[in-house]
Amino acid sequence: MSKSFGKCALCRKECELSFEHIPPRAAFNASPAKPVTGDKMMNDDRMPWDTSGLRYTNQQQGMGKFSLCKDCNNNTGSWYGNDYIKISQIMHAAFCETIPENINAIGIKEIYPLRFIKQIISMFCSINNIEDERIQSLRDFVLDKTAKGLDKTKYRLNMYFTKSNLVKYAPLSVVIKLDDNKVQSMAVSEITAYPLGFILIFDPIKDREYDGVDITFFSDCDYDELANIEIPLCIKEMNDIFPMHYRSKEEIKQCVEENKKWSKENDGGQ
Ligand SMILES: [Zn+2]
Repeated sequence: MSKSFGKCALCRKECELSFEHIPPRAAFNASPAKPVTGDKMMNDDRMPWDTSGLRYTNQQQGMGKFSLCKDCNNNTGSWYGNDYIKISQIMHAAFCETIPENINAIGIKEIYPLRFIKQIISMFCSINNIEDERIQSLRDFVLDKTAKGLDKTKYRLNMYFTKSNLVKYAPLSVVIKLDDNKVQSMAVSEITAYPLGFILIFDPIKDREYDGVDITFFSDCDYDELANIEIPLCIKEMNDIFPMHYRSKEEIKQCVEENKKWSKENDGGQ
């Protein structure tokens, strides 16, 4: 049995799996990638964005996974891929031009919102555990080209922009955050790949603020419904592998220094 034999992340058929680019190849994902896993990054004394010298599996074709059967790979590519590519390219062009300070949203003309969101959900199906029940209705949503309306009590999809180059796939994890002295936990999965980032929130709490811009309503459009959309310019810096961590390199360095100082002081006193 070849090493790419397994269950398709969408239709669950057991077969020879094909390589799925995550994000699509034409969305700045055509050059060789050097993915490293989180445990290697956290192992030694290095800054989290520094992947130099780490062992990696060289992916000549870009970042992705052997996750989909051939049919699912072809279908999602032809049904949904173009709108994702279009938005990535528009955002890349905007970053290249230096966005004026008084601009707070980016307008995108003639896009199919449902196709865009289905491409994103398909990527989340590929990176998450295929046996997790919470993924099943997402799979159904992607497999049926015309299905619409994600259940907003169960899922919320937030989006942001990023100039950072580290690609991150974070499967479903529980994130604990301290907001206004209240501890909040949330189940999220996140994909970041220049110039876009997405947070999929499971069982979102109504009226709670989450990072990014809520685009779940894109799922209410029809497959053939074209729209002109405006997305608030929410830009995040991403320098480590943890979900929903958007610290700048300076902030991370400072935190590492403080931790070192703390350990030194506490060791030194012994
Ligand atoms: Zn399949």
